[in-house]
Amino acid sequence: MYLSIWFGILVGSAGCSSSDKQSSTADQSAMLAQGNPLAGRLNNPSSLPNVPPAGAKISYSQVSITQPVLAMTFDDGPHPTLTPKLLDILKERNIKCTFFVIGKNAKAYPKIIQRMLAEGHEIGNHTWTHCSLTSRSDAQIRSELQQSEDALVAAANYRPHLIRPPYGAINTRIKQLMFTEFGYPTIMWSVDPQDWRRPGSSVVTSRLVNGAHPGAIMLSHDIHAPTIQAMPSMFDQLLAKGYQFVTVSQLMNMEKANMPVGVVIRPALPVTDKDPTPLPQ
Ligand SMILES: [Zn+2]
Repeated sequence: MYLSIWFGILVGSAGCSSSDKQSSTADQSAMLAQGNPLAGRLNNPSSLPNVPPAGAKISYSQVSITQPVLAMTFDDGPHPTLTPKLLDILKERNIKCTFFVIGKNAKAYPKIIQRMLAEGHEIGNHTWTHCSLTSRSDAQIRSELQQSEDALVAAANYRPHLIRPPYGAINTRIKQLMFTEFGYPTIMWSVDPQDWRRPGSSVVTSRLVNGAHPGAIMLSHDIHAPTIQAMPSMFDQLLAKGYQFVTVSQLMNMEKANMPVGVVIRPALPVTDKDPTPLPQ
């Protein structure tokens, strides 16, 4: 709906004769009187901002679903020894997570990046140097995101499509910049065990278990040993409660499409002249 509104604005503006503009001005006044929020921009394309269409969702801290499905996320890695331990824990349980990696670490440990992807996990951008974006210029923000993205492409030919701002430092304008220029929705969280304060592994476990809810995005850091120690019990308790763990993108897709869990969309296979056999049903 919003797209058609914007398209209509652009086409209508470009195609108007001067007399049409006069009558459209009268229409605008009427629309303004009715409180139409777009009326002030009508017939003046130059005033259109470089922002996503109204209604585009560019930020998530959780998703609106009722199924017991959530996303576990790990920031600041990869760590050379702790992240592989975590990957082992995840593999034993066939759990998929999302890692928001620091670009410099991705460059230092490309094999861990490759393993994450080979085992079905998702990777998001967490900047190149783990800087606070709200204290950087737009040029610096672009550089932080681009260098990190380039490191992932170099490590595993993988281009991320999510961003988590370090320290959660963000504002609407920067979210819009990252969405319109990089295609990144901003991923925050709804459950934070404050594991970076090192409260002890049992506390991290209980905070995550108690905070879990359908559609949750849960935060932790795979650079602290007690956090890794907290994971087996946390996963096992939530699995016993019937929760399923998916990547952030899978969780977002569930909200967008209200897609049932477990639906696998089979990718199209190449069809050649030598192999005209129909795909198995
Ligand atoms: Zn971080």
